[in-house]
Amino acid sequence: MDYFNFKDGNLYAEDVKVEDLAKKYGTPLYIYSKATLERHYRAFEHALNRIPHLVCYSVKSNSNLAVLNLMAKLGAGFDVVSEGELRRVIAAGGDPKKTVFSGVGKTDDELEFALVNGIRCINAESSAEVEAIKRVAKRLGLKAPVALRINPDVDARTLPAISTGLKNNKFGIATDEAYELYLEMNKDPNLNVQGIDCHIGSQMTSSVPILEAADVIIPFYEKLLKAGIKIGHIDLGGGLGVTYDNELPPSPDDFFDGICERFKKLDCELYIEPGRAMVANAGILAAKVIYKKRNGEKRFLVTDGAMNDLIRPALYNAHMTIVNAKVRPQDEENCCDVVGPICESDDFLGKDRILAAEQGDILAVRGAGAYGSSMSSNYNSRRLSCELLVDGDKVSVIRRRQKFEEMWELENIPE
Ligand SMILES: *Cc1c(COP(=O)(O)O)cnc(C)c1O
Repeated sequence: MDYFNFKDGNLYAEDVKVEDLAKKYGTPLYIYSKATLERHYRAFEHALNRIPHLVCYSVKSNSNLAVLNLMAKLGAGFDVVSEGELRRVIAAGGDPKKTVFSGVGKTDDELEFALVNGIRCINAESSAEVEAIKRVAKRLGLKAPVALRINPDVDARTLPAISTGLKNNKFGIATDEAYELYLEMNKDPNLNVQGIDCHIGSQMTSSVPILEAADVIIPFYEKLLKAGIKIGHIDLGGGLGVTYDNELPPSPDDFFDGICERFKKLDCELYIEPGRAMVANAGILAAKVIYKKRNGEKRFLVTDGAMNDLIRPALYNAHMTIVNAKVRPQDEENCCDVVGPICESDDFLGKDRILAAEQGDILAVRGAGAYGSSMSSNYNSRRLSCELLVDGDKVSVIRRRQKFEEMWELENIPE
């Protein structure tokens, strides 16, 4: 459910016409709906209200300060994967004490920054990382709050690139090794064993994989309990999917129902780290049709939005729905690829779409709120796009369009 709807043949972001926004702020343009973000956050809170919990919004899915600030105001914690993300959380008014730190390659500097700022928990992913945490905590003279990211060896049944819970990918620690490590960590004066963590993948469209993961993690929790290690929280990560095309992911209520039933019997808090399901459908990318062209049988709409703005189609061959912001009559004649101006054949936003459009029309790529702007780059020396947050009929620029000179501000020509 989102608040991007057609009224009288025109696409609106809440109460504002998308075409008007494109005209005023230029394209490519990210537009987010505040009401949608709030609705999604509340849906997660509602799904977990039977049990003690913390919703840690996954910052990497959309790290704009305004989005983080809204999440913080709603009461969210955060899941970060770098010092930069933690600094963003702090800059946006978020609380490090409600923030968990994930990622396979945390450096000593990053660990120090997190510990000094009172991070809620560090989700360690290897015994080597545990050594680093001990070393840094000892130097700082404090006890580091830690969890281990368990690799439960379950298949999230999603795209290979975003599947992270199988035993031969780089994430997490196998349960046998983790058990030994917990016993060691529990004795260490500079570690405070807090939780068990896992994150098996993204864009899950069924609750089966997460239940399979829980059914590995919960017995592991009980095994630790028997060994005298009381765990305060289990973090089951993110991964709930969204509808990009015709997927039918469960609602947060349905996704977490079986999980809540299991947790009701435990004296243990549940943390979750949703990213995509929180923001994907709360954002669109508006792009203008620059040219229509035809090569042989193939028709193309060339837009000013490209893979540097939104890389999911090029990177994962991900399908994203594209609509014309102004309804036009459709027929098979309009079958086309929607492509950007970048010098790569993979620079496309959509392939083989029935999409009638004229030069100058505004297209909207739906579901672009997650892993859209946060994955954008300056490739082809294209500026980072403008981002707007719409609240009813109120529009805020939450990132202005980058200036050309800002793209080479860090560069230097040697004497
Ligand atoms: C990316 C990621 C998430 C968020 O995943 P979504 O599929 O966007 O919900 C959560 N936790 C960790 C550790 C991640 O790497």
